[in-house]
Amino acid sequence: MTDKLYRPQEDIVTLMKQFSQQVKESPELPDLHTRLLRARLVFEEAIEFVKGCGCTITMTIAGLNGAEETAVIDDIGVVLDPNGKPDLAEYVDGCIDQLVVTYGALNAAGVKAQPAWDEVQRSNMSKAWPHCSVCDAVLERNAGLELVHPEDASAHDGDWNPILKVHKRPDGKFIKSPTYSPADLRRVIDEQIQQANG
Ligand SMILES: [Zn+2]
Repeated sequence: MTDKLYRPQEDIVTLMKQFSQQVKESPELPDLHTRLLRARLVFEEAIEFVKGCGCTITMTIAGLNGAEETAVIDDIGVVLDPNGKPDLAEYVDGCIDQLVVTYGALNAAGVKAQPAWDEVQRSNMSKAWPHCSVCDAVLERNAGLELVHPEDASAHDGDWNPILKVHKRPDGKFIKSPTYSPADLRRVIDEQIQQANG
């Protein structure tokens, strides 16, 4: 086994260029044709993964408008398929194929995954509550969005670290921390556009 780096997005750029699919050099929403193609690919691979789990998809059809022949799916559910055949190889195949189509969708829109990924990870992790490692006080954010110790800025002579804890309601639901902040992907995209033009 070699120590080949895991570079999924670069691999999919290679794949797409080999098969004459458009890869954008800077962030931009793809044209209608490409969006339809990408949406279909993502959906198909999601269905394959559901099958690999031994599950199937149910749906509720919304009421038809007049004589229209197209029904709109109102709600999609996933249930265990009694005749399904859960299979680990199919399960992994479904996961990897979803990565392939997702990186493909990012490449078609000229977006680098890593900075966007980091921002989503940061946001998701910020759902946990930061506490002081010494006295367990819940930390706060200052105007610069840094975590600070409440009340006393020089608490414990500055000798403390933030530790993350999960807060749950009695029914087990997670409670988002007051220092949670949603992912700002628009900012990440704008930075990539500036870099591409710079
Ligand atoms: Zn403390």
